[in-house]
Amino acid sequence: MKSQQDRLREAMKRLALTRDDFAARLGVTRRALDTWLLPDGSKEHRAMPAMAAKVLAELPGARALPAGLRERITPRGKPHLLSVEQFDRAAVEDLLAVAESMEPIARRAKVTRVLEGAVLANLFFEPSTRTRMSFATAFCRLGGSVCDTTGFTFSSMAKGESIEDTSRVIAGYADAIVVRHPDQGSVARFAKGVHVPVINGGDGVGEHPTQALLDLYTIRREFARLGKKVDGAHIAMVGDLKHGRTVHSLIRLLSLFKGLTFTLLAPPSLEMPGDLVAHAEAAGHKVRRAASLKDGLKKVDVLYATRIQKERMSGEALETYPLDFRIDKKRVDALCQKDTIVMHPLPRDGTPGSNDLATDLDNDPRLAIFRQTDAGIPVRMAVFAVLLGVENLVAGSLRDAPWISPPRIGSGDAPFHRLT
Ligand code: ASP
Repeated sequence: MKSQQDRLREAMKRLALTRDDFAARLGVTRRALDTWLLPDGSKEHRAMPAMAAKVLAELPGARALPAGLRERITPRGKPHLLSVEQFDRAAVEDLLAVAESMEPIARRAKVTRVLEGAVLANLFFEPSTRTRMSFATAFCRLGGSVCDTTGFTFSSMAKGESIEDTSRVIAGYADAIVVRHPDQGSVARFAKGVHVPVINGGDGVGEHPTQALLDLYTIRREFARLGKKVDGAHIAMVGDLKHGRTVHSLIRLLSLFKGLTFTLLAPPSLEMPGDLVAHAEAAGHKVRRAASLKDGLKKVDVLYATRIQKERMSGEALETYPLDFRIDKKRVDALCQKDTIVMHPLPRDGTPGSNDLATDLDNDPRLAIFRQTDAGIPVRMAVFAVLLGVENLVAGSLRDAPWISPPRIGSGDAPFHRLT
């Protein structure tokens, strides 16, 4: 184990702080820090109190971030993020540690310019608000710039250009590319011929890997607050599990943990694909199917609701979607626990009479949907930083953000939601 002075010296160097500034970051006097930094044998040497050691351990950027993560998640020399299958448990834990280190920037307390000069191409050939904006914001918060194109109509694909030609052209312009496309497998096709990092922002009913990463990040933060662990958790997934790419990625990612129970609640025509169920079972998890919320929501730690993916089905399937999958306060109160976390990848269908997550839970602390959307920033920053190899430069580059930020983001936010 490293000595106290080695740990302190290393942290000070990583954060690029003077002794005075470092003492201030630790919340101690310069004199106290000086005595902790003396060699062990010195008469003046004092051991750091447990509280200061804890502050040091939790100081963002004080610890070295895991090395070689880029190579571990992108083997074969192609720096793309296409599927959650690229992660093992250690890699996903490490990526989330990088995301944690981005929190001071995401919360607008700090600024970095590590990606100054870099350009992101954000190509969205399907509707998006959150994913497109949060990828763009994440890249900007690292100091980069963003070029955007949306829809087929205004792109050369409308003139018959192939995915491969478009991909080669864009890779010549940008340093990272995010692609959303309606066809499963299309983003992998886009990535195949280029060496610039390509990130899957959702490929039809296939995958949405960064959504699953931010969902896991949210679950872990909520569980930390509640004293729970992902291992052994009970996760209910509700709604259109057939077409919902977020749940396809999430069940795979959660399967990296141990001893989970998944309860899948979907109407018969919208069930989770068999291969994903088999994958979770083969990893040692219990997968139960329940026909109604009443049977399925007892003792769940997370209720993950999804939207009916209307755009991927014909009229008939839509009309037969039963109303009893609607999640509202009455049902959550009656069927869930006091500490069940309610999540949804959003958007939720807010049209009157819609059969989606209701708004009457909005001020309920169990509803984590906006904590979930906020998590998109540090997680996507982490993905860019790792794929572009700058994650270990961030801590040393931080400056205070000079502008005024609100102490709370939304006035309707449920408790637990703090900016600082
Ligand atoms: N925004 C998510 C997605 O793009 C979920 C949804 O659209 O329902 O998959």
